[in-house]
Amino acid sequence: MEKVRHSCGCTKKYRLYGPAHSVRRQIEHREAMPCPKCKRAAEEAVFIATCEESALANTEMGLPELTGTAAQVAYAESIRRDGVRDALRMVNSDQEQDVIDTLSKATAAKWWLDNKELMFGAWTAKAKADFTA
Ligand SMILES: [Zn+2]
Repeated sequence: MEKVRHSCGCTKKYRLYGPAHSVRRQIEHREAMPCPKCKRAAEEAVFIATCEESALANTEMGLPELTGTAAQVAYAESIRRDGVRDALRMVNSDQEQDVIDTLSKATAAKWWLDNKELMFGAWTAKAKADFTA
């Protein structure tokens, strides 16, 4: 087992194989990175920050609150932010409020999660199809 001191300061033992110079390289490669645990934590922190930032941007745009579990809502806010931005890119400024009004009808976080593959004008079209009687 080789002891590696990661860039985050954590030390972790690895079973590394190969000739000495290869093992040395593998150690150096790992030393340059945070340990898997810290890497995951950092990614999660970025994700949470993105979700919070998105929620704020959505509120400022006048979009309603989403319903669903806390985890669903957090993720849906970032999907919604990108979705609304994409949808607005497809229309002239005089149609923007119409797009926002249409997408405001989608208040279930699940709707945004279920449709996360949609792009550009497809968001507005899908919302119109789902919410216009
Ligand atoms: Zn670490």
